[in-house]
Amino acid sequence: MISASAPEPAGVRTRSEELWHQHRDRIFRSTDRLFGGLLILQWLAGIGAALWISPRTWIGAVSQTHIHLWAAIFLGGLIALPPALLAWWQPGRALTRHVIAVAQMLASALLIHLTGGRIETHFHIFGSLAFLAFYRDWRVLLTATIVTAGDHFLRGVYWPLSVFGSAGVSHWRWLEHAAWVVFEDVFLIYACLRSQNEMSEIAERRALLEVDHERIEQAVVQRTAELAASHRRLEAQIVERGRIEQELLAAKDAAEAASRAKSAFLANMSHEIRTPTNGVMGMTSLLLDTSLDREQRNFAETIRSSSDSLLTIINDILDFSKIESGKMDLEEHPFDLRTCVEETLDLLSLKAMEKGLDLAYLGCEGMPTHLVGDVTRLRQVLMNLVGNAVKFTEHGSVFVSIQTTRLAVPPLLTPGRGAVAHAGAWHEVHFQIKDTGIGISPDQLDRLFKHFSQVDVSMTRRFGGTGLGLAISKRLVELMGGRVWVESTPGVGSTFNFIIRVPEAMGENLAPPTVEPAALIGRRLLIVDDGEVNRRILRILAQRWGMAASETISGAAALALLATHPPVDVAILDMQMPGMDGLELATRIHATPGYAGLPLILLSSAASLRDRADARWDHFSAYFNKPIKHSQLQEALQIALGQIHPTAPAPTAAGPHPRLADEFPLRILLVEDNVVNQKVASRFLLNLGYRCDLAANGCEALDALQRQPYDLVLMDIQMPEMDGYEASAEINRRYPAASRPRIVALTANAMDGDREKCLLSGMDDYLSKPLRADDVEQKIRAMLPHAPTAP
Ligand code: ADP
Repeated sequence: MISASAPEPAGVRTRSEELWHQHRDRIFRSTDRLFGGLLILQWLAGIGAALWISPRTWIGAVSQTHIHLWAAIFLGGLIALPPALLAWWQPGRALTRHVIAVAQMLASALLIHLTGGRIETHFHIFGSLAFLAFYRDWRVLLTATIVTAGDHFLRGVYWPLSVFGSAGVSHWRWLEHAAWVVFEDVFLIYACLRSQNEMSEIAERRALLEVDHERIEQAVVQRTAELAASHRRLEAQIVERGRIEQELLAAKDAAEAASRAKSAFLANMSHEIRTPTNGVMGMTSLLLDTSLDREQRNFAETIRSSSDSLLTIINDILDFSKIESGKMDLEEHPFDLRTCVEETLDLLSLKAMEKGLDLAYLGCEGMPTHLVGDVTRLRQVLMNLVGNAVKFTEHGSVFVSIQTTRLAVPPLLTPGRGAVAHAGAWHEVHFQIKDTGIGISPDQLDRLFKHFSQVDVSMTRRFGGTGLGLAISKRLVELMGGRVWVESTPGVGSTFNFIIRVPEAMGENLAPPTVEPAALIGRRLLIVDDGEVNRRILRILAQRWGMAASETISGAAALALLATHPPVDVAILDMQMPGMDGLELATRIHATPGYAGLPLILLSSAASLRDRADARWDHFSAYFNKPIKHSQLQEALQIALGQIHPTAPAPTAAGPHPRLADEFPLRILLVEDNVVNQKVASRFLLNLGYRCDLAANGCEALDALQRQPYDLVLMDIQMPEMDGYEASAEINRRYPAASRPRIVALTANAMDGDREKCLLSGMDDYLSKPLRADDVEQKIRAMLPHAPTAP
């Protein structure tokens, strides 16, 4: 767009001139034609006027045609025809315009003459001038004025009657007429010039518009070309994207197929490795029950610990692959939080004892007893973190504390966690595992929870491990709606923390929350332990139960305290203490006057290893393995203070079991095709006092059941001829539910859904290989209410 102040480009000026000329030419031509017609019209009108005013003239009695008529015809024709022809043949030319101007003024002169010089006819001159101004060319007016002035002068001087209608007029009258004509000319010429200016402006505006228009057109053409090009590019991109999408889909299909193959491979591999591991572990634990010399025992124990590690690795890899493929689903069942922690610590107490570590836990006051969640996975996380703490600590203690906070608003559930039936208020449970071990340097803390990450490879050689434990724990904790983090100082120790969010369990079957017994309130307790952590826990527990506790860190200090302070009602002694151990101290206390009957409770890292021949153990009303279970200690204190009477044998962890089979005789059928596994399982059963019958597959099992009834069938899954699923379904079909034997699956399949598959096919429970003696006993105990027969 050209602004008013911008200089005009040369093209615009030329074009505007061109337009101006075209416009003017159009006006000239059309005005020429108008005048052509008008002149012919005036000619005819002149003839008409002559005919009307003076058709004939009389000379005496003779009348003849008036000379005016001839003048109107011939002179009028001479005036009108040449310019009319010129207007027709040569329109637009300057000559044509000027000839027309001369003719038009002569036509006026003729008319004035024909009307006898009437002054009214003079107005024709003014009309003609106005009409000539149509040309918008002031020069034409000049020509017309000269012709008129000349005509008036000549006729005014020589023939005044013709022009003024009277003979007695002044010779200068023509000048007055000419002056009026000039007067009109002034306005007409001014109008012509203005009109030319306007024409020129219009031409210029049009030229500018044309240039703008052309520029816009060019821009549109250019933009259209660009758009077409980008459209082509876009089309190419769409085609390319489609191709990439196809490739991605193909890659995704391939990845999914690979993932399925990986899962199948893992399930297979796990099964294949578990089967021989079962043989190795089972046989090793049986071997360890026989009499071996030291070296042989050492070898056998190495085999056992190696196969334990192998199993841990297999389980870790399976778990990790499950988590990675998003197939890890958590169960939602009520569980006892305290039992979960105590069971975990129990499993690690032996290792802690071997290293001389204090292993202890403490829950907060008002901790909910039953929660809803996946207790197996929670135990796995605890096992990993507490296990690491024990593994990486050489001296001192490993202390687990639990804090619970009731949440005002339930958390948003993570995918896979459904709303839980029979669940109450939500709690945030904060577990803290604090050790005094080697610690972790700050630069290594951030990669701790990444898979296959171990802080120091030399540690792996020393302590073993896959580096998967923390990564798995982290993901499990996240699935439980929480997070995990660690604080550590090298050389001082580490504190691993994790939080889970779980609802409290509600229901009639759950044990009611424990009420602190009134019997302990106000009783005086002496705690003797050299371990600071244990002392602190015992003190806090005693305070919670309303007891007045005093503490000492050695036997000597305890004896001194008893001698100088008011008497105590009961004492808890640690077994392993420097200087004087618990057994020695007990003897000395009971020998002290006034304390012969003081009830004593012993805490030991190895209470189960009691030497039955050592009479000093009889000083104790109860003795426990560390870590102490709080409810057991509370009960033992009540018994010691005579507030309740022992029901079963006194709550000790010591002493060998009476054999299960003597208490609960059962007929057991073992269905297993693998000879090594047959030996392992039947030996485990024999250790519990059971002799089992054998069947090598499902068909043989059905035959055996037909021959005689059994209380329990231990059923392998993968067997030739008829597998465990089929055999179980058939047993369920043949025998009514009340009288059929209980079926417990024995399987090396440990993938998700295997347990459900077993239960669906009619089995009652599930034992995964490699078998452990404890697990077998536990399963048998769990099914005892069903054991109907006893030969
Ligand atoms: P691993 O099976 O090797 O123990 P984890 O994932 O459980 O695998 O642990 C990874 C590494 O983190 C360990 O190898 C060890 O270096 C470090 N670590 C874990 N817990 C502790 C701890 N309590 N003290 C010191 N180092 C630890």
